[in-house]
Amino acid sequence: MKEIILLKNVNLFDVENDSLNHNMDILIEDDTIKKVGKIDYRGKENLQKIDCSEKYALPGLFECHAHLALLTSEDDETKKKIMEDFKITNENEPEKQVLEEFVKVGITQIRDVGGPLENLKHIKIKISKKEILGPDIFYAGPMLEKSPLLWDEHNQTLPGFTVAVDSKEDAKKIIQKLKNKGASLVKTFNKFDLDVFKYLLDQAKEHNLPLTHDPGTTFFHSIPVDLGIDLGIRCFEHAKSPWAAVLKDNLKEEYDQLIDADQKDKKNLVNKIFNLKLDSISSEKLQKLTDKMLEKDVYLCPTLHAFIYMQEKKSEEQNKPMLDILKKLNEISFFFTQKMAKREVKLLVGQDGLLPRFTFNEMQYLKDAGLSESQILKGATIYPAEWLGISENYGSVSPDKKANILILNKNPLEDIQNIKSTHLVLKDGKFVFQ
Ligand SMILES: [Zn+2]
Repeated sequence: MKEIILLKNVNLFDVENDSLNHNMDILIEDDTIKKVGKIDYRGKENLQKIDCSEKYALPGLFECHAHLALLTSEDDETKKKIMEDFKITNENEPEKQVLEEFVKVGITQIRDVGGPLENLKHIKIKISKKEILGPDIFYAGPMLEKSPLLWDEHNQTLPGFTVAVDSKEDAKKIIQKLKNKGASLVKTFNKFDLDVFKYLLDQAKEHNLPLTHDPGTTFFHSIPVDLGIDLGIRCFEHAKSPWAAVLKDNLKEEYDQLIDADQKDKKNLVNKIFNLKLDSISSEKLQKLTDKMLEKDVYLCPTLHAFIYMQEKKSEEQNKPMLDILKKLNEISFFFTQKMAKREVKLLVGQDGLLPRFTFNEMQYLKDAGLSESQILKGATIYPAEWLGISENYGSVSPDKKANILILNKNPLEDIQNIKSTHLVLKDGKFVFQ
């Protein structure tokens, strides 16, 4: 027998049309939304009716930049550090505790942008078999980069965290592997040979895997954002990423001359740019870059939380030089986020970590950077669903989509902090928070 739930008289935020629709009913059959609107339920017997008057409904949220595999580290020391850092209490099954928490606060989907394929696949299977309660996970698997690997040390505690792509052969193999092991996207990072990168991008397209790119350490990108857009990349991670692509002409000249120079020769210029901060940026170039992003429907995931969190850590360690750099990166990140929000670039909500409350922190930082509540909510619902190519099933409260729904006591369009006023959460049509 079908399980039928009727949510009555709710204020529903229509993320596709940017409107709050009052007194709506939502009819759910098993794990699917069947109808939305005014529903005549007379004559239906086995119906669970829930009055949601004065409540607010949203599609279940996405966290768009997580690294869940860190929870599965086999190395005792790493595990201990993560447990302490994130104040996780369930020592035996930290992933169980964290994943459950995500769902209970209404984050019912996660876009994971870096971790060993096997570990992520394992988590996904456990969730789909209902062995543990957790969000639907869309993962990239390993971070792909030309060797030597910047995060190679992670491969010791989490083998397969980052994988080298040095040739077209490597590119072909890894994309095939990602596809076979259930990946939903590709994550590239830092350095690449241009022809290998182009080939990788083609392979990803052929296998229907969207690709997101993190240009890597702050300057001297081998695939800078402007070139990346021309090649066909449709998402970038971290709001500082555009910096190298919008330097003023005189700095850009110096920069181009140093592309193949030694690290120590590059350092002077990097320091100079860091000291200039916003004065290093050409507003004309930024405008052009933004035009291009809008024209090609390119998304950006700012991850503002990342530098703020790192700053907190470094101030505990009293690491002054590092703290200064982070402060500047933070300022630059807020600046780009603000500029792009003004032009309505599609910005995704991603924390670059692994705890539910950090997603809500990110939402507040995006608000501080000038996004409207509606922009933030779309960045955690319809935008990621569109980007991942799964908007048929996710991203809005509409017929035939999955019944992952968040009901709030207070209006999130009035104040993004109201996102925490959880009343009900449905995942796959089941109440997971009541
Ligand atoms: Zn990351």
